[in-house]
Amino acid sequence: MTIKENIQQIESKIQSLQSNAKLIAVTKSVGEQEMREVFNAGVTAMGENRVPSLLEKQAVLADIQKEIEWHFIGNLQTRPVKDMINQIDYLHSLDRMKLAKEIQKRAVKPVKCFLQVNVSGEDSKSGFSPDEVIEVVGELAGYDKIIIVGLMTMAPIDATDSELHEYFAKLKETQTKVAEKGFAHAPCTELSMGMSQDYHIALEEGATYIRVGTSLYQ
Ligand SMILES: *Cc1c(COP(=O)(O)O)cnc(C)c1O
Repeated sequence: MTIKENIQQIESKIQSLQSNAKLIAVTKSVGEQEMREVFNAGVTAMGENRVPSLLEKQAVLADIQKEIEWHFIGNLQTRPVKDMINQIDYLHSLDRMKLAKEIQKRAVKPVKCFLQVNVSGEDSKSGFSPDEVIEVVGELAGYDKIIIVGLMTMAPIDATDSELHEYFAKLKETQTKVAEKGFAHAPCTELSMGMSQDYHIALEEGATYIRVGTSLYQ
């Protein structure tokens, strides 16, 4: 199917569940041509997971760069933060305090961030544990360059459907607890969860942003 047809299929799934979730087209595995196709099909939110590719793609898409909403979704080291933090609209992978400190130092204006949460507890996954999220959000009150717009998670690739429901529901429960605190720096209304394999389950559990790559390009 074409990129446009794949996008339409996902958009109808979103509508059929009466969800208002936004589709982020993950473009890490494709180049300029496919990104223009995504854009022309009406999807302006794009997700990249590596700093060099993000910057290269912004350069080749200079004519439409300002109309694209740039989401950084990958693991982020502290060193390149200065090169990219003022070039993105959302960071989905705020996973440690050291990164928060670097953002605070380098950002020229507040950055919309998702706290990455390791809901499944897998060793290989980064992120805060659900239990420490409230405390971390409290600490971030002193960081005026960081706005916690929501929580993000990645489910294990081998999770069963019922485990996926459980993980996504857990993220939603944690997000609701933070939102109820009413922190000015952490409205925490958003849930970034769901990829090609599991976005339909994430939508059922209340995702507000789904991050889909592979299934757009096949
Ligand atoms: C690659 C990636 C995605 C998209 O995964 P697909 O399986 O290609 O849909 C979503 N989120 C993150 C953090 C990723 O790195």
